[in-house]
Amino acid sequence: MRKIKNLLSIPFGSNLIFRSFEKILQKSSGGYILSFHDLSPKSFEAQVECLKPCIPIALDELIRRYKSGKNIDNCFAITFDDGVETTIKENWNVCKKNNWPVTFYLPTDYLNGNNLPFQKIQLLENSLENKIYELPSILDKEQKQITKSKLITYLKDIIYIKDYQYVKKYLDFFLGLIPKKSNIKNYDYFMPKAIDWSEVKDISKNELSSFQSHGVTHTASSALSQNELENEMIESKELIEDCTGQKVNSFCYPYGSKKSISELSISLASKHFDYSTTLLKGRLRPNLNLHYLPRIDFYEENTNSFVKMKVLLS
Ligand SMILES: [Zn+2]
Repeated sequence: MRKIKNLLSIPFGSNLIFRSFEKILQKSSGGYILSFHDLSPKSFEAQVECLKPCIPIALDELIRRYKSGKNIDNCFAITFDDGVETTIKENWNVCKKNNWPVTFYLPTDYLNGNNLPFQKIQLLENSLENKIYELPSILDKEQKQITKSKLITYLKDIIYIKDYQYVKKYLDFFLGLIPKKSNIKNYDYFMPKAIDWSEVKDISKNELSSFQSHGVTHTASSALSQNELENEMIESKELIEDCTGQKVNSFCYPYGSKKSISELSISLASKHFDYSTTLLKGRLRPNLNLHYLPRIDFYEENTNSFVKMKVLLS
């Protein structure tokens, strides 16, 4: 009886149980791409460490092995999206210390001083007065009045599917209604600074790092025309290559969800890049489209047990 109790008390995070479940579910123990956004170096390091004996290898190397049908058990790749300065610098130090290759996906407009759409929504959510807003006629929404909470929900929805100008009109209108930057508490928390190009250049000298394209404006690819998509892909690629002197061969679709990625964007990505990543969950199973690769995403609050369970079930 005690034996059974002891067994039951072993948390799911235990390596023994983790490996046994892998066997039962007939999962190999590697072959996936991790996706991180904003998280502390402490959580990041713990989450990667807990996947041992699987170890991180360079994304390029993982895809090269995958393409040639080689074994990708026991390895995975680390990617960070969006280019927030503190996130990159702090987590890059963790990668350097542990000898972990890492790929950073950069939206180039953000590095050029324009905060990302979802950061602006965060700022609005935290600094708009809680009341009913009259919508001006430039915002072509059927209803003419909207509460703050409905507005925020609406904005969070449209960034996944609408083009840059449409989203910008809304954001600019409401950003015009909030207090001045200096009067907003925690402004830098909601609108974090992007990494500088000079810092990108510096980090890129170390071959453990790779900087790749996350577009220019961080607009959902499905909302863009052929011309706009090609501009997003070519411009970001050239800017990053000019800075690092390294080849940009990978694209990460902004928002990465099914509704944010069109057939057209997949075909254009295959023209300009060697492979492209999404936020659809999964491992690198055989016969995937190289321009629609799944990843497994983790966040600050995810415990080691959760990380292992999610990898197991992906
Ligand atoms: Zn992103």
